[in-house]
Amino acid sequence: MKRLILTLPFVFFLLLSRQVAAAEELRVGVAQIDITPPVGFRKGGGYGEVISTGVRDPLFAKSIVLRQGGVSVALVFNDLLSVPPDLSRSARQRASEQTGIPAENIVIAATHNHGSPEYWGPLRDLAHEAALDQHGSDARETIDYQKKLVWAWSQVIGEADRVALPVTMDVCVARQPGLAFNRRYHMRDGSVRFNPGHGNPEIVRPAGPIDPDIPVVLFRRYDGAAEPIASLTTFAMHTAVDGGGTVFTADFPAVLQTRLQQKFGDAFISLFAEGTAGDINHIDVHDTNQLQGPPEVHRIGNALADAVLAELERARRRSPSDLAATSETIQVSFPAVGEARYQQAKQLLRNQKTGRTPFLELVAAWRDCHRHHHRQHYGDRKPLEVQAIRLNADTAIVTLPHEVFVEIGLAIKATSPFRNTIVISLANDVDYYIPTRRAFEEGSYEVTTCPLDPGCGELLLDAARRVLQAVKRMDGYQPRSE
Ligand SMILES: [Zn+2]
Repeated sequence: MKRLILTLPFVFFLLLSRQVAAAEELRVGVAQIDITPPVGFRKGGGYGEVISTGVRDPLFAKSIVLRQGGVSVALVFNDLLSVPPDLSRSARQRASEQTGIPAENIVIAATHNHGSPEYWGPLRDLAHEAALDQHGSDARETIDYQKKLVWAWSQVIGEADRVALPVTMDVCVARQPGLAFNRRYHMRDGSVRFNPGHGNPEIVRPAGPIDPDIPVVLFRRYDGAAEPIASLTTFAMHTAVDGGGTVFTADFPAVLQTRLQQKFGDAFISLFAEGTAGDINHIDVHDTNQLQGPPEVHRIGNALADAVLAELERARRRSPSDLAATSETIQVSFPAVGEARYQQAKQLLRNQKTGRTPFLELVAAWRDCHRHHHRQHYGDRKPLEVQAIRLNADTAIVTLPHEVFVEIGLAIKATSPFRNTIVISLANDVDYYIPTRRAFEEGSYEVTTCPLDPGCGELLLDAARRVLQAVKRMDGYQPRSE
């Protein structure tokens, strides 16, 4: 009895000191899983049916889990064009049950890779239904890819969580001007057009800005070796340099991965997130000799890697981590679509192989299928979720659904309470663009895709500002000297 009394304070002290240590230490784990579909599966990236014939690069889902004190966060980046909300919700729930990470602190994003499968949405559903009608089965879908993804996402989060170890974090912002261009242009006839073509004499000037910043977060083992284990790079430019034709490919983030592995070792995992690139791509309309296909993918991937590696070398800034996370879901209105228009829209999409329907009419048909789906699933308001993750006193990530215009990302950064705000789009739910109010007035492709009412972009901007302010003030935050 006496021995027990003497021992208890010691045990209590041990427990206490452990909790304090755990509260201060950032643990990070990374993992990846191959999500390449079988050859023969449909390929996405356009508005027609494309059947895959091969694989140039394997497609991955890459996960990073961060834990500090009682806070835990997981992010998954996929070499996919888009991520449907139903699947991301299921996977977040499943991963949350397995790891204890709150579902609202889990992000499942697409890199917007155009060399990836068509596995959901109006075009896939129509092709799938047509195959079932004609043949009784869909020979293109030899596996249940949606089910596989939900499994893969919860697996890869679980694995990243399992291998988490103490880390330090370097944050820097690289720049590589000349890679990205605003793809919407004012034309001589007064219109605004997207991708008007190389050397088009009707071009007057770009209709919007770009965001040349390339924020990079590098994680190193917290031991004597300080070996880098992973990085998260974000860039606001469409991951659509080369859709790969009929082969699966992962575009320029795969080149960045290779270059960073050459520098940091084969076990290094490079996570890539697309910034707000709704109106941004790599096409320089003034360069009539611009490369195309794989050579252009390599040029861009290498230029990005050069900028990232140079900045990591130059501005290695280790700052104490201070993890916190919050989120908010807003409700956005959208117009109703009558049954007659819905049937007409489906018919237009089914008949597109005849090539007689103008492109923007096809896009409007696709949009109206989304409006119909939204009405059936959500009523008269579409939920849009915004998440904020504070990494330290100076740095936060904010995630947005869909393909958000760069003006919105720039405005979030300009008013953010954090010096480094990493704005990630295509999170948890993506299949169309989120333009600014001004772009809605200007029209063209991106606006035509959007099923939501004008003002949806500004509502997202307001929500992003609120979650950033909230996460800045959350418990655990202590202003730190530079
Ligand atoms: Zn896009």
